[in-house]
Amino acid sequence: MITATTIAETRACCDGARGRGLTVGLVPTMGCLHAGHRSLVRAARETDGFVVVSVFVNPTQFGPTEDLAGYPRDLDGDTRACEEDGVDLLFAPPVEEMYPEPGRTTVHVGGLTEGLCGRSRPTHFDGVTTVVTKLLSIVGPCRAYFGRKDAQQLAVVHRMAVDLDLPVEVVGCPLVRERDGLAMSSRNVYLSTEERRAALVLSRALQSAAGVITGGERDAATVRSVLVAAIEREPLVQLDYVEVVDGATMARLERLEGDVLVAVAAQVGRARLLDNVSFTIDGPSVTADLGVTHDSLEQ
Ligand code: AMP
Repeated sequence: MITATTIAETRACCDGARGRGLTVGLVPTMGCLHAGHRSLVRAARETDGFVVVSVFVNPTQFGPTEDLAGYPRDLDGDTRACEEDGVDLLFAPPVEEMYPEPGRTTVHVGGLTEGLCGRSRPTHFDGVTTVVTKLLSIVGPCRAYFGRKDAQQLAVVHRMAVDLDLPVEVVGCPLVRERDGLAMSSRNVYLSTEERRAALVLSRALQSAAGVITGGERDAATVRSVLVAAIEREPLVQLDYVEVVDGATMARLERLEGDVLVAVAAQVGRARLLDNVSFTIDGPSVTADLGVTHDSLEQ
C-alpha cells in the first residue's frame, strides 16, 4: 500500500492505475476507521481495481464551537486497517496541503442542506461538498463510496454530482451498527459507559418507529411524536431533531409514501450522534432498511 500526503503523488498514482486499465474507487473518511468505514472499503474492493481511502479531518466542515481539536485521530491504526483491507493508496494530507491559503471557493448545494443537520450546523455541508469536490478532483475516481449512516450527506453529494455533471458514480452503502444496535461512529469513543447505554435509545426508538410504519402508520406527525416521546424519556440524550423526509430531496413529508427517511440527531455527552432508517413505501407495501450489524458483515 502506498501512503501519500501530497496531492501531486496521489494524482500520479491514480493516473498510473488508470494507465494500467484499472478503475479507481474512492472512500473519503475523517479516519479513526471502524467497521462502518471498512464496509465501504470492502464495497470498493469488490468493484474497483484501485482503491483509494482518504483520511482527512476537514476543518471547514466543523463549526467554531464544534469538536475539531478533539476529533479522534489514529493514523497508525488507520494505516493497519487499510493494509489489512487491501487498500492500494491511503491519502492522508496535512491541512496545509488541502488548504494552503484561506479558501475563497466553496461548493454550495441549495435546498437539501437547509434542514436536518444543516439547521444546527449551517456551514457544515459547504465544508463537506467543497472538500469532496477537491478529493474527487485529486483522485478522479469512477466511483465514490458513502455510508447511509450520514443519509443527508449522501443525498447532498449525490445531488452535487448530478448538478455539476461530475464523472463519478456516488455509491450509497448500508449503515453499519454495533451488535446492540448503536450506529457505528468515530465519535462513539467520546461516550462514557453510562452515555453509551443511554445512546441506545436512538436505535431502539427508530426500530419501534419502523414497527409502527410497517404496521400501516402513514402520518408523519404521528411517527415523529412516537420517536420524540421515546427519546425524551432518556435524560442523558439531548435531542436535536427527529425528521420524516423524502429520501432524495430531504423535504419534510406529511404522509409517508415513496422513498422515506426517518432521521434523528442528538447530543449525548460530548458526542453528536446520528441515526436513521429508510423506507420504500408503495401503498400498503413497506421495505425498511435498518442497516446491518458489523458481525453479520464478517461472515
Ligand atoms: P466519517 O469518517 O465519519 O466522515 O465517515 C466517512 C464515511 O464513512 C462516510 O461516508 C460515512 O457515512 C461512512 N460511515 C461512517 N460511519 C458509518 C456507519 N456506521 N455505517 C456506514 N457508513 C459509515
